[in-house]
Amino acid sequence: MNKITDAFLHDIPKTDLHVHLDGSMRIETLIELAQERNIPLPSYEPQHLKELLNIGGIHENLESYLRVFDTTLKVLQDEDALTRTAFELAEDAALENCRYIEVRYSPVLHQKNGLSLPVIVESVAAGLRQAKRKYGIMSGQIICALRHMPPQTSLRLAELAVAFKNKGVVGFDLAGGEMNNPADKHAEAFRFIRKNNLNSTVHAGEAYGSRSIHQAIHDCNAHRIGHGTRLRENGDLLNYINDHRIPLEICLKSNVQTAAVDAIENHPLKFYMDFGLRVTLNTDNRLVTDTTITDEYKLACQVFHLTYDEIKRLVLDGFKSAFMPFRKKREVMRLVLEEFEQVSQKHGLHSEVEARGISRYAIDRIGEDPMPD
Ligand SMILES: [Zn+2]
Repeated sequence: MNKITDAFLHDIPKTDLHVHLDGSMRIETLIELAQERNIPLPSYEPQHLKELLNIGGIHENLESYLRVFDTTLKVLQDEDALTRTAFELAEDAALENCRYIEVRYSPVLHQKNGLSLPVIVESVAAGLRQAKRKYGIMSGQIICALRHMPPQTSLRLAELAVAFKNKGVVGFDLAGGEMNNPADKHAEAFRFIRKNNLNSTVHAGEAYGSRSIHQAIHDCNAHRIGHGTRLRENGDLLNYINDHRIPLEICLKSNVQTAAVDAIENHPLKFYMDFGLRVTLNTDNRLVTDTTITDEYKLACQVFHLTYDEIKRLVLDGFKSAFMPFRKKREVMRLVLEEFEQVSQKHGLHSEVEARGISRYAIDRIGEDPMPD
């Protein structure tokens, strides 16, 4: 019988496909950057500041959770701050054996001191490159449009994303409060993205029902869904997403904090896995949610008692869902499988499916073949 340990979850290769730059800085860095720039904060003591901002706490809704970003964004208005924050985010991920991250943010929120949009993207790219050189961690940027902003702003951001395609940017997203801000308002930006053969994802079904996911898929042609917590409310759409292998970017801890689920036990993760959906585990916001990718795996294991094979499937689904060229992905997946086996041996763990001689189909599904679907 396999015993899943925290050390095993730390050691396995992982991805983080849904992580916001402005929600994932170190608290110490937030304080340091504020002091250097004479920006007032409610406290300069890390623990106290965390308490004041309700970091890691439960919020009454998504809108209240998003208010923490008002503070982090104050310090992320120059090139150095952006580069440092991007580097540290990738460094923190690399130190817990995260092999690939897709960092998302909305460049228009970093223009208070007059930075141009291209300089913002280049500053983030510089930080991610530094981390790649030091730790080998692969990464890409996702440019976020914001639901509450005018559609013209989304179009400008889509043009920016396309201009930096293959130059650091791997995708486009729609973020922000879902309530009263439907995705179809931004359909033109997503049409532009699609025409330019760029990947897209949309935050949907987090604070609003399955209709929001329907719009993300059919009005925005999203290739992935951010959260999708309320997909279970619409069986027909659930099947469509399953049949088209559209990945869900699940962020467990964050979903509890934004009240997308009333308790972690009621999160649909296990139901989605059992149904066969392609699901990935992600942090959303390392600072605001007070989490790490290893913590998300730990939580999933504690609450849903995941087996070794289910963990392996989550890991492989993460890499499969990456916005990465197919040929490169196939090579990366071969290396990830090898590493996963080595880590498993080191921790004395093995597949229970193979041990019980279950059909080739079942083995395929957990990723014996690097790209089965
Ligand atoms: Zn998010």
